[in-house]
Amino acid sequence: MAKPKPQCRCGGKTVYFRAYNGESLCQTCFNESIFEKVKKTISKYGMLKYGDRVGMALSGGKDSTSLLHIMSKIVKGHASELLAITIDEGISGYREESIKNAEKITTELSIPLFVKSYSDLFGISLDEAMEVRSEKSLKITSCGVCGPLRRRAIDKVAEEAGVNVVATAHNLDDILQTFYINLYSGDVERIAWLDPEFRPILNHFAARRIKPVMEVYEQELAFFAYLNDLPFQSESCPYMNEGIRTEIRLHLNELERKHPGIKYSTFRTVMAIAKGVDGAEGSSGKGASRCDKCGAVSSGSICSVCQTLSLIN
Ligand code: SF4
Ligand code: ZN
Repeated sequence: MAKPKPQCRCGGKTVYFRAYNGESLCQTCFNESIFEKVKKTISKYGMLKYGDRVGMALSGGKDSTSLLHIMSKIVKGHASELLAITIDEGISGYREESIKNAEKITTELSIPLFVKSYSDLFGISLDEAMEVRSEKSLKITSCGVCGPLRRRAIDKVAEEAGVNVVATAHNLDDILQTFYINLYSGDVERIAWLDPEFRPILNHFAARRIKPVMEVYEQELAFFAYLNDLPFQSESCPYMNEGIRTEIRLHLNELERKHPGIKYSTFRTVMAIAKGVDGAEGSSGKGASRCDKCGAVSSGSICSVCQTLSLIN
């Protein structure tokens, strides 16, 4: 196995060792490599078109803060517009810091920021929803409540802000974790959703969904934020350890530590499976159905948002 070298190929001082391909990189070459990787992903999947109005989902964490920084440079070359969307779930003691960071970085980069809360949009904060969960002894995880509401919240703000593209900072690790969660729960349809060219998403959502850092390791995005001194939230969400995601994350990190590059090869397999499921007979028809209550794109007759709201209200 390759070992870190004190100097980068350009002669600069090594700040990062990329174990999966044996590269030792200085700050400039590391940054360049991340930009290049994101540009390649964007071009491979035709994620950006000239004149797009892109709404970037900015949580204020390391991934979305890094992506905003990267997108602010890339979007200019596409003569597109970029704005940021921050959703306040209503998690006391946690969200306040990340909203401040989101305000700071968007001001620095002169990017308009739209902030909306669950309370504004759904009449209930996540903390309140969690109280209802305890009172009613509901068997649902906090992320199971929060995830659908956030996706819908971003849709609503995107519509208000008139964007035609929504960019999220899902990284390679997020994609793998989501794959395993769906694999273990038997949700085959949602595995198809991981395909960046999933047809129902392309055909039925008003705004195109893009994940420009889907081929970048989480660890490298975090390092990018740190290296470039970006303001990002250090605290983790107090609810994050309730679901199985953290266990899968730790397991994949352990595998990667022992077998550098295993996440990449798994990622390629996941993309092939997602495409296969997407292309399978009947899959796109099922994914393209609409919720009977709110009319949103849904994989069942009632969407996950309407199901969640009826539980917690
Ligand atoms: Fe919401 Fe779960 Fe993320 Fe916390 S970790 S913000 S509960 S999705
Ligand atoms: Zn619905």
